Amino acid sequence: MSADKIDRHLMPERPANDRIKDFEEVAQGFSFEEAVAEAKRCIQCKNPKCVGGCPVEIDIPGFLKYLAAGDIEGAIKKIKEKNSLPAVCGRVCPQEDQCEKVCILGIKGKPVAIGALERFAADWERETKKLAGKPVSQLASEKIETGTRAYGHTGTRVAVVGSGPAGLTCAGDLARMGYKVTMFESLHLPGGVLSYGIPEFRLPKEIVKLEVEFVKSLGVELVCNALIGRTLTIEELFKQGYKAIFIGSGAGLPNQLGVPGENSQGVYFANEFLFRVNMMKAYKFPEYLTPVLMGKRVAVFGAGNVAMDAARCALRLGADKVSILYRRSRTEIPARQEEIIRAEEEGIEFTLLVAPTEIIADDKGRVKQVELLKMELGEPDASGRRRPVPVAGSEFKLDVDMVIVAIGNSPNPLIPKATPELKTEKWGGVIINNETATSIPGVFAGGDIVRGAATVISAMGDGKAAAKAIDNYLM
Ligand code: FAD
Ligand code: SF4
Repeated sequence: MSADKIDRHLMPERPANDRIKDFEEVAQGFSFEEAVAEAKRCIQCKNPKCVGGCPVEIDIPGFLKYLAAGDIEGAIKKIKEKNSLPAVCGRVCPQEDQCEKVCILGIKGKPVAIGALERFAADWERETKKLAGKPVSQLASEKIETGTRAYGHTGTRVAVVGSGPAGLTCAGDLARMGYKVTMFESLHLPGGVLSYGIPEFRLPKEIVKLEVEFVKSLGVELVCNALIGRTLTIEELFKQGYKAIFIGSGAGLPNQLGVPGENSQGVYFANEFLFRVNMMKAYKFPEYLTPVLMGKRVAVFGAGNVAMDAARCALRLGADKVSILYRRSRTEIPARQEEIIRAEEEGIEFTLLVAPTEIIADDKGRVKQVELLKMELGEPDASGRRRPVPVAGSEFKLDVDMVIVAIGNSPNPLIPKATPELKTEKWGGVIINNETATSIPGVFAGGDIVRGAATVISAMGDGKAAAKAIDNYLM
């Protein structure tokens, strides 16, 4: 049988009734044999569509060829030519909408499991180095081809604001080109959403930490607790000698439901809840001193990745019943398919075609119910998804003692507010041209601060494009 006729290998996962008891990782990764067999399914297309589907343009057939031959070191080096965060991307990127969506094998069967193989190569590198007592960042000191041109050490200073995937990618690429990069982060830890948003059971924080270490090992200086717009303005950064600035400050401003009762006790924004759980290790209370107020019957509004993460954390923290409440149908749910399935397996309930009209509190101000209105689907809206239309008179109430609001985030407003010359869209996104340049000469931007809440890999693609644009600007 030819390799491409072999069924796609499935990554093993912990059973649902085990995994809901802790925050350990759910997906377990391929074994060496599974990874090599899966890589062998790739038919090494002459015109590999998968590469075009990858926003950071990894040479996918190139790394799969190494893997198929059992050369994992070769594979990870090939990946790292373009991607400094492979263990992260292998876990959380929506490959099903990108490289795997356009993989030729997907036309008649199942695409190559590109994401799982990227994860395998990155995990192998980490574990092998750990076993050998070597720093995981060591690869950085080996020569990594940029694939474009040989860069001298220009030593020109560039500031990167934000250490999420956009900032990390931009900073890493600029450092490889020889720039002297300082990455400013407002929080006490780097990583952006990778650290404070996505939970441990999907993306272990140790992995984020090591991938940040890799970027630092490329020569990037990291300054935490530096809130740009307050600690230092964009103008002050220029005065300090930075010749160009990349803004990758993300979209951390939660959207509100806009219904009465939203300020009741027991109502959290997903970001705040997840921040406490992840960054402040609330799930390890009292070992860590941050408590999180938990309910037994939890309603989560929204159905994106953020909502799934919040719901699954609530379940692990001891809720008896967690419901995702979403105003459209199953087809329109924006979260990754595999995360929806995992949430269902874990016992999260999905109440579809409903929207909140009120959050009802008891006489002490604590949430006790939500009032919901049934919806039906109308014509498609601007997003192409069918618009939810209220069913008149269909209100009903649901007993809950905690509400998590996860209906999207908007760009962080601080830098635009502190920088009046920086042009923004009405909804807050920083305006850039085709080359990521903002309205201020020498200032570039990308990731969620430009797109609104999007994806890790699109933020990384923007960071990469901005590094090229900054290089052109400074040449
Ligand atoms: P961020 O990751 O938000 O990083 C911005 C950084 O800038 C932060 O560290 C912030 O503290 C810092 N910052 C902000 N303002 C300032 C300032 N003034 N000065 C200095 N620093 C500042 N995407 C996927 O592809 N797959 C997923 O499975 C997925 N799951 C998600 C789950 C959750 C819970 C959330 C919230 C998002 C998820 N996303 C997912 C979306 C993805 O994480 C984001 O699109 C991505 O992180 C955006 O990257 P970024 O670098 O633009 O911003
Ligand atoms: Fe391999 Fe699929 Fe890419 Fe072709 S499109 S090179 S089969 S991964």
